[in-house]
Amino acid sequence: IKGDIRDRDILKKIFKYQSIKSVIHFAGLKAVGEAEKFPIKYYENNVLGSLNLFHEMELAEVKTIVFSSSATVYGKHTKNKYDEDTPTRPINVYGRTKHIVENILRDIKKSDDNWSIGLLRYFNPVGAHASGIIGENPKEKPNNLLPYISQVAAGLREKLFIFGNDYPTSDGTGRRDYIHIEDLSSAHIKTLYLIQNTKNKLFTLNLGTGKSHSVFEMINQFEEVSGKEIPFQVVDRRPGDLAEFYADASKAEKLLDWKANRSVKEMCEDTWRWQKNNFFNK
Ligand code: UDP
Repeated sequence: IKGDIRDRDILKKIFKYQSIKSVIHFAGLKAVGEAEKFPIKYYENNVLGSLNLFHEMELAEVKTIVFSSSATVYGKHTKNKYDEDTPTRPINVYGRTKHIVENILRDIKKSDDNWSIGLLRYFNPVGAHASGIIGENPKEKPNNLLPYISQVAAGLREKLFIFGNDYPTSDGTGRRDYIHIEDLSSAHIKTLYLIQNTKNKLFTLNLGTGKSHSVFEMINQFEEVSGKEIPFQVVDRRPGDLAEFYADASKAEKLLDWKANRSVKEMCEDTWRWQKNNFFNK
């Protein structure tokens, strides 16, 4: 059923006519830069939309939910490795929308212990389904690194702009914890299973690999799997970017009996397969 999460009526109908036991809530806008330009749109969709959903869930007595949160809730810290107890102080609108919804869900849980809630904080999800059928096609210029690299490799863009090579990192470029979307997806299934089968729980879990990779490392890997050259130009740092951060994913590993196993090579291979199958210019 195609609908808009801001539309209470359609949510009401869905809960009325479908037999729903649990919800995995992915219906969020996710472009960090766009959120700064259109905060009302972001708060309306991500926060108000979530409230609509929670309200209808409550009315339908559906009280099990997995929520897509984000590592952006942590904001800026002096350490690079973030565990779930790292203080949350988001530095942008997008992060604040996720942070607000996490807190709403915590308050809901406090008021009614029948809720089961998994709050999943994603690091940098990349890749595509291994079939090459499901992938990401940014409507405009990609904001994120891997979709941009992929479009350069496909001949859809001339070159990659690297946002700074003077960070205090191994090669001067930013380092991030990239996680394959299929690893991310399996963590959702495991979370759902856990909260469905252990009542009265609330979990906050980091989803990442626990390792970071630089922009140059990602470029090199993509060049290797695609056989294409990725021309680049180093430009100024992007405001708000951090030098490096990655997950302490040990809590999710233990609780879910899960580990993000797919390598950066597989992330690039799957992205490239999807790109070639769908949008290719050369
Ligand atoms: N990056 C870059 N050029 C781009 C997009 C991203 O150099 O066109 C860098 C960015 O500075 C960061 C890393 O790649 O160090 C990952 O950025 P992305 O936007 O994918 O994720 P996030 O900043 O949200 O972690």
